[in-house]
Amino acid sequence: MVIGHFGFGLGAKKFAPKVSLGLLFMAVQWADLLWPVMLLLGVEHVGLQPGNSKFPLDFTDYPITHSLLMGIVWGAVFGFIYWLVKKDRPGAIVLAICVLSHWVLDLIVHNPDLPLFPGNSPKVGLGLWNWPVLTGLVEAALFIIGSIFYLQATKAKNTTGKWSFGLMAFLLVVMHLAGLFSPMPNSVTAIGWGGQFQWIFIFLGYWVDRNRVAN
Ligand SMILES: [Zn+2]
Repeated sequence: MVIGHFGFGLGAKKFAPKVSLGLLFMAVQWADLLWPVMLLLGVEHVGLQPGNSKFPLDFTDYPITHSLLMGIVWGAVFGFIYWLVKKDRPGAIVLAICVLSHWVLDLIVHNPDLPLFPGNSPKVGLGLWNWPVLTGLVEAALFIIGSIFYLQATKAKNTTGKWSFGLMAFLLVVMHLAGLFSPMPNSVTAIGWGGQFQWIFIFLGYWVDRNRVAN
């Protein structure tokens, strides 16, 4: 799941008006922001299956970034640090939920490769990816509903605030489609470095949000 995660972050703004969209994006994508780093460090691993067009990646082990238990832990840490800095309790709770939402949304699409906890854990996944059209519909619905929530929860405070959201949404769609239709990187190192470009969307989230104001 890609754009669906961002959709969840957009929708969360409605429940955490004081939290910047950039930080909400960072929370919902925390697992996938950390994962490429873990790959580069050799802490987590992924198998490449170039012949397999449907599942080019074999998620062999990623317990630190993609286990249910660590999702809860990261969420708690994320929310707690935010609370320490901002003393905004509803915002902290929403951020914690956003971090955990990544695992829950991944659960819907992944094949059973998501561990419940690090170590010798059973692996779960409902495998919606086996039905690409349905997956696309679910992700699109999350993104559209999230966008509507965000646009309801905020209003532009200047001209940039009016058009920047559209630009960001367009770039998110482009990124999502590029991921679907471009060939998989041919090495784990390339995946690790390639994954870093997602940070652009964290910055875009901050930029859009700074030019809009919560209703
Ligand atoms: Zn993920």
